[in-house]
Amino acid sequence: MIQACTASAWSISAPVWLTLLVCIGVLLLARWVTRQRDFPGRGSFLLLHLASLWWMGSAALEMSFFSAECKMFWAGMAWPGILFTPTFWAIFLWQYVNSMHAPLARKSILGLAIVPLLIWGLALSNPWHGLFYGAGSAPINDSLGAPVRYEHGPLFYAATVYVYLFMAFCMGVVTRAAALSQGLHRRHYLAFVLVTAVPWVANISYVAFGRTLFGFDPTPFSFAFTLVAFSWLIVGVRLFDLLPVARHLLLEALLDPVLVIDPGQRVIEANPAALKLAGLQQGWQGRALQQWPVFGADLQALMQAHASEQELPLTMTSAARYYEVRVRAIERATRHGAALLGHMIYVRDVTQRHLSELKLAEALALSEERLRTISSLHEQLREQALCDPLTGLYNRRYLDEFFARELARVQRDQLPLAVALIDLDHFKLLNDECGHLVGDDVLKAVAQHLLDNLRSTDAVFRIGGEEFLLIMPGADPDEARSRLQTICSQLASREVATRGGNQRVTLSAGVAYLSTRRHGLDELLHAADEALYQAKHKGRNRVCSADDLAENGHPSR
Ligand code: GH3
Ligand code: MG
Ligand code: MG
Repeated sequence: MIQACTASAWSISAPVWLTLLVCIGVLLLARWVTRQRDFPGRGSFLLLHLASLWWMGSAALEMSFFSAECKMFWAGMAWPGILFTPTFWAIFLWQYVNSMHAPLARKSILGLAIVPLLIWGLALSNPWHGLFYGAGSAPINDSLGAPVRYEHGPLFYAATVYVYLFMAFCMGVVTRAAALSQGLHRRHYLAFVLVTAVPWVANISYVAFGRTLFGFDPTPFSFAFTLVAFSWLIVGVRLFDLLPVARHLLLEALLDPVLVIDPGQRVIEANPAALKLAGLQQGWQGRALQQWPVFGADLQALMQAHASEQELPLTMTSAARYYEVRVRAIERATRHGAALLGHMIYVRDVTQRHLSELKLAEALALSEERLRTISSLHEQLREQALCDPLTGLYNRRYLDEFFARELARVQRDQLPLAVALIDLDHFKLLNDECGHLVGDDVLKAVAQHLLDNLRSTDAVFRIGGEEFLLIMPGADPDEARSRLQTICSQLASREVATRGGNQRVTLSAGVAYLSTRRHGLDELLHAADEALYQAKHKGRNRVCSADDLAENGHPSR
């Protein structure tokens, strides 16, 4: 056979030049691809083009040689290219679409090579069995170097089915990727669909309908199209370099750690920030998240505890630092719903923010505490300003405010109001006899006695040394007088305890009532004072009211 070829005459025709041109283009493309730093599926992309080069080379040789025997030899030689092209095409698309950077394992490549090598062997041994190309395979006409029209045998069709299975897989992968992605990504994947479809359509038109180009299978020529399309995608759309590099750079440049774990909780991807945080450099791929240094165990526990609320930012404390964690399920749509492929974990170090928040909360609590102290001090000051330190009763400073408020209230509700001026009897004498301190004790005891007899609406003021003012909103004259009478007689009937022993003390009181004549504080005080004077005058230890004065005429002091 080889002898037949060496003996055969040959010439380089236009289609051969075209094929050679495409070969050069493919070589340039391959050279460009090897220089790309980040190109998922680079290895299989190169193998794919190597296979297509093989195919095109064999086609060019088949076209160049004149003898039909020699042509058939090169047709058989083309088969590794024919079979490996779709094989690596499928692998490349799978890796590219899934952003897989790891090259295909040697074992897998060998496994995938078995059938193509077998078919190649069968194709080369065709002269003995004729199962690939039948006996009817012959040049299309008598002209020199005329292309051979092949009669396809069962093995040819079996090999075609094998190839088409891969092509169907390729179409499935890119169509699905296009369907699942959006915008720019979708357009890129649709371009892939087209680039995948053209050689396949060319091949189907040849195998099923006998269409030829320059009398040959048009498939290798269609690689001219795929070359142009790839070049356009690379130069025009920056498909291979820009997009994956941008994606990769984004992950690389991200200052926050990102991990991808599979359903078995093993880390399959980690960006530099994640590796730096964990202090890892290599040998980490496939390591269980639980065993991931520094934060792996905490992350695993967090994920387990919040399995159902994965979209929320979770918080984690690990190695004295605080993290915000976002977990996103990576799913694949299937006919029966979504299949879980793994999780992407985005970890954000929020220690600074957290500490600032803690400091802020601390400062806030402190200022709240201070505010509370200030308002309580303010309250105390007000109390001190309004209250008499000896008896704890209100002093004159609060009198005007209280009276104005109560007057407005009783006038609105049409209620009576009474005021009583109370003065202790012969207090000077008690002071002189028992001492000032005993006098103070008596004042305190009397103040307490008055408080004990107050109603909730009443108020009692110490307005002078041993003089008190009782304001009784809502009390009519009878009630006011009777209550004052009770206060007076109860005090007289008991002894008060002092540091100088028990003492007896009495009081005199003058009561005045709110009326159309007397509706100001001064008028009421004046009337009460006059009634008090009357009580003193009448012998003390008694209660007189301003009305009694009206009956008895104006008293003189
Ligand atoms: P009368 O029955 O007429 O009221 O006689 P009195 O001695 O009570 O006379 P007056 O009301 O004028 O006396 C007031 C006395 O109260 C004068 C003063 O010694 C005494 N006094 C005033 N303020 C205080 C005080 O804060 N403590 C003590 N212990 N005595 C006071
Ligand atoms: Mg007095
Ligand atoms: Mg007195």
